[in-house]
Amino acid sequence: MKRNLALIIALLLCVSVLAGCSCSGKKSADSANTTASNSTEQTNTIETPATEKVRTTSKVNVRKAPSGDAEVAFQIEKGAELDRLSDMGEWSEVLIDNQKLYVASQYLKPVTGAVSDVNAGKVIVIDPGHQTKDSSEKEPIGPGSSEMKQKDTSGATGVVTGLREYELNLQVSKKLKEELEKRGYKVIMTRTQNEGEISCIERAEVANNANADAYIRIHANGVDNQSANGVMTICQTAKNPYNSNIYSECKRLSVDVLDEVVASTGAKREYVWETDTMTGNNWSKVPVTMVEMGYLSNPREDELMATDDYQWKIATGIANGIDRYFNEKA
Ligand SMILES: [Zn+2]
Repeated sequence: MKRNLALIIALLLCVSVLAGCSCSGKKSADSANTTASNSTEQTNTIETPATEKVRTTSKVNVRKAPSGDAEVAFQIEKGAELDRLSDMGEWSEVLIDNQKLYVASQYLKPVTGAVSDVNAGKVIVIDPGHQTKDSSEKEPIGPGSSEMKQKDTSGATGVVTGLREYELNLQVSKKLKEELEKRGYKVIMTRTQNEGEISCIERAEVANNANADAYIRIHANGVDNQSANGVMTICQTAKNPYNSNIYSECKRLSVDVLDEVVASTGAKREYVWETDTMTGNNWSKVPVTMVEMGYLSNPREDELMATDDYQWKIATGIANGIDRYFNEKA
């Protein structure tokens, strides 16, 4: 018991140090009133709890009582798995180190057991396409190629909303990351902000270095014809000189993601475009697909894609496609 107490004290000390320099996230849990005053806490230990597995959707405060005024025992990171004893509405009672503690229910989501276990070891790299400026430099279109292409551009622009493609791509990518993490995948982003320049090769290297199980490139289309609409995915051809060895996996990933985004959004199904002109695809050594979510040049799709609701439908569809890809593979 003494050892436990010492551990708890050590933990509390750590947490109070951490609390001083953390909280950089935008929705840092029930961050209000972290300066709780009373410390008349009591260690509530219990014997045989019936629990439900939940996962934190944000960095959250773990409190000693179900109230925003109660003392913060410590904070836990986003994505942590907890045992929930009961959902009391606004607050949930959780069991941590055999103690009953409390977390705001809005930051907890049930873990869907089987899926999360299957996906636990899988790494997905998401590449939110484009950047704020057009690069002045070029890079080889594939390993060993003398054909050069611009390192990156700022992409298309919403014909009605004026939304830039690099912004839209990042918005959807962040939702996709959240959705995939909820399903148990490990997610790595090639960029998390709009500022900065990264070339298509550098983006592919992120996926290669992570030995990703899937590399998902997020883009939106833009053409002169404003009536063009729908979803497309892109992979290399079977005769690609750089990575035709992974063609069949890329094709299957592209079909699965395309089908599921169409099912989730109700958008028109264009097709899987097979081309060897995409630097980011050519440099990938891991299964890759490029998703053209819709047309920024189409007034209706431009307006739809700018909404949170539609962005979630796209993200959910892509995640469903990724699930399907691995299920077929298994
Ligand atoms: Zn693009």
